[in-house]
Amino acid sequence: MLPTALVHEIDRLVREGKLSQRQIAAQLNVSRGTISAIARGRRGLYGKDPLDDNSPLAPASPPARCPHCGYRVYLPCIVCRTRAHRQRLRLLVLLAATNSSRPRTTSLFNRDAKRSA
Ligand SMILES: [Zn+2]
Repeated sequence: MLPTALVHEIDRLVREGKLSQRQIAAQLNVSRGTISAIARGRRGLYGKDPLDDNSPLAPASPPARCPHCGYRVYLPCIVCRTRAHRQRLRLLVLLAATNSSRPRTTSLFNRDAKRSA
């Protein structure tokens, strides 16, 4: 993906109208299709910039194998954190269902509770 500054420079040159799309493409070493897409508004004015070292999004260490899921990730593993979060949500939904007065779910859980008591 192109850097944001380059995309904005292309947009500026296109709107300036002094150079043809072909000339802009040759000057900035970008494909004519990209220039055309920016000129027609088919491509947004976004880009991807390399993360600087002080960015909170920059990984602190090289990717490593997660001990839980086995994926090669930047630790802490977001996959495992997301799975744990979803598990907690499912548990909350289940607890809410057992605490509600709906007879179908409560009877199911009350049966288990009576058995263990
Ligand atoms: Zn993991």
